[in-house]
Amino acid sequence: MQAFIDKLKKTLPQKALLEGAAIGERYHADWSGEAKLAPAAVLRPASTEEIATILKHCQEHKQRLVVQGGLTGLSGAATPQAEEVSLSLERLTGIEEIDPDGMTMTVRAGTSLETVQEAARKTGLLFPLDLGARGSCSIGGNVATNAGGTQVIRYGMIRNLILGLEVVLADGTIISSLNKMLKNNTGYDLKQLFIGSEGTLGIVTRVVLRLFPAPTSSCTALCALKGFQASIRFLQQASGYFSSELSAYEVMLASYYDYVTQSINAAGSPFSQSFPAYAILEIEGAEQSSDSERFEAFLGEALAAGLIADAAIAQSSREVEEIWAIRHAVSEASPTLAPLCALDISIPISRMPAFVEQSQAELKKQFPDLRMLIFGHIGDSNLHYMMTTGRQEDNPVIEERMYQLCREFEGSISAEHGIGMIKKPFLSYSRTPEEIALMRTLKRALDPANILNRGRVI
Ligand code: FAD
Repeated sequence: MQAFIDKLKKTLPQKALLEGAAIGERYHADWSGEAKLAPAAVLRPASTEEIATILKHCQEHKQRLVVQGGLTGLSGAATPQAEEVSLSLERLTGIEEIDPDGMTMTVRAGTSLETVQEAARKTGLLFPLDLGARGSCSIGGNVATNAGGTQVIRYGMIRNLILGLEVVLADGTIISSLNKMLKNNTGYDLKQLFIGSEGTLGIVTRVVLRLFPAPTSSCTALCALKGFQASIRFLQQASGYFSSELSAYEVMLASYYDYVTQSINAAGSPFSQSFPAYAILEIEGAEQSSDSERFEAFLGEALAAGLIADAAIAQSSREVEEIWAIRHAVSEASPTLAPLCALDISIPISRMPAFVEQSQAELKKQFPDLRMLIFGHIGDSNLHYMMTTGRQEDNPVIEERMYQLCREFEGSISAEHGIGMIKKPFLSYSRTPEEIALMRTLKRALDPANILNRGRVI
């Protein structure tokens, strides 16, 4: 290890390598906080070429490395393991180009999502990926985890927002595939291999992103519902009515809603009574007054038809923020529920009500004191569960049963956050043996020495 580090010191600029006490705690784990460990060294390259040099050295010395972006990942994949050095993308930052005509942005992988959003906004355009960790997560990390967020229903996961990628392979080869066109059928679409691969197949260094016209109008409402089943019917109606203007549809069951509105300061309820479920409905368009009229008309019809029980339409940007604060209170609520068993799963939409009912009935029978907070990006088939009995030893049992149920309902054990280390034991619940064998074949082909994020995912 020391010979490897000494050799790199001769090649890299001084600030590109941290050792010993200079390695801050932030490099010890990702947001999941799993099994914190200081890496043997932190490598902080500032260019694609420096990354290629590092990987050639790693290859030569069979040195394992863990790739770190903004470290907001929730699967433990960016947490160092024994004998690993970290390769941090934190110095590979900056926007290289914005093409307003082609509506593309070329950006270095360590740039934060928020910086990208801001740069697009200043050009009058929109980069639609949005998630709570926007200020800290990096675009490279978003690509490596195929990040989703709140606007997937309209724009898709980040996979749908990427036109080109530059990647450095485990042997140091630079694959520059910085395509800027929507149509390009020249053989295999290589970028897809790396999107969502959680740093196991290559290091993303530059990304060409799709930008969109910025919407000039938006309408937001918090709707009260008679139950989870009603939230699915309401979604169908809203999708039919607003089509591609529907930009967010978030459902919160009373278990989640009541907890955050009563215990988190930033999240207050606009309703004077309690309901079984709630949905945040948002549309984006181009003509505020007519969009608002149609939005109000739709909600009026839904209320008259008994599809919703009540609705609070945001009348100002402050009220929009107040509605979203209820959904985003998840970050503040999580630590108050420790020891927490948090799940990020997908279930086919039509089977969701039965899944929710069965999971609640079964687990509450087994653990009568179980607190079960349920919410999610329902329009994207994505459900989040936050569960606790207050006893750490119950969590593995709860987790295992929930993933079994997920398999029985033909769902996915990870909707957004990836597999990493935390969900690795359950990968076979959502993927067939043949699929996993093909993943291993790809890993062996691209990283035969198994140095990149070893042991993550598969
Ligand atoms: P890291 O945590 O540093 O790394 C994540 C994975 O990507 C690791 O496997 C790492 O090795 C790999 N990696 C990082 N950079 C690169 C690179 N350049 N090349 C190759 N591999 C790389 N996720 C969602 O999808 N939707 C949400 O709504 C959402 N909300 C969140 C809210 C909060 C408050 C938090 C803390 C997290 C949330 N996440 C969400 C999870 C997280 O923000 C995303 O997974 C994010 O995409 C991770 O980016 P990062 O830069 O922090 O990556």
